Amino acid sequence: MYYIDPHIHMVSRTTDDYETLAKMGCVAVSEPAFWAGFDRGSVDGFRDYFRQLTEVEPRRAAQFGIQHFTWLCINAKEAENVDLSREVLAMIPEFLDRPNVLGIGEIGLNKNTKNEATVFLEHVELAIKHNQQILIHTPHLEDKYQGTRMILDMLTADRRIDPARVLIDHVEEHTVELVLEAGFWAGMTLYPITKCTPARAADMVERYGPNARLMVNSAGDWGPSKPTAVPDFIMEMRRRGHPEATIRRTVYDLPVQFFSQSGAKFSFVPPEKRNTAS
Ligand SMILES: [Zn+2]
Repeated sequence: MYYIDPHIHMVSRTTDDYETLAKMGCVAVSEPAFWAGFDRGSVDGFRDYFRQLTEVEPRRAAQFGIQHFTWLCINAKEAENVDLSREVLAMIPEFLDRPNVLGIGEIGLNKNTKNEATVFLEHVELAIKHNQQILIHTPHLEDKYQGTRMILDMLTADRRIDPARVLIDHVEEHTVELVLEAGFWAGMTLYPITKCTPARAADMVERYGPNARLMVNSAGDWGPSKPTAVPDFIMEMRRRGHPEATIRRTVYDLPVQFFSQSGAKFSFVPPEKRNTAS
């Protein structure tokens, strides 16, 4: 089965991982800008990172027939440095016209602080000004419900935001309904330890149906994570007897539908849409 991983940090993965993903049917990835594991010291550190995301990774992915998309921002973990955050926000427009850029992300909250909320709202303002889609990170574990609530309150208070162009990621059973009911897209992250498992994600897809704005991703990064988590979800859905077309809706059709709103052009042509006469 061919699929898209809508949230994976390939800069921290090896070229062997790209090869494995390709062998498992991955045809496109989307890589939100992320925390490097340490706080970057200057705006130039971010400029170099954005060059890596818009120049280097698309080439590395293309070697294996995988299309690489990306999102730009300064992560919530670095938002306590509001001055640096504003320098990065002012620099981001240099990159927004690059062909693999889908929008602003992953912005959001980490510890739900005032500075994080300030920098979050300034990112939203930037996205609105440049007509960009938004990808949102919700906090971990005990901070998740409150952080998700805060994010939804900030977004729904602004009538300029179209929920159909916003993906709220790392939802779990206690936050998914809030997100879907407000009209946003929701992403379930399959992590080995925290977040969601393939079985819990399959339960949620069964509960809300294959037409809900619900996607699955690996959020593979430099920490404990599994870049092949989306195929694990595919296997779980097969084990439960779901038809291939239903599974593909979650792992391919919906990501295409969501990303296409940014003007993203997909190079992969599904076999059933190929003209066999030519
Ligand atoms: Zn992430």
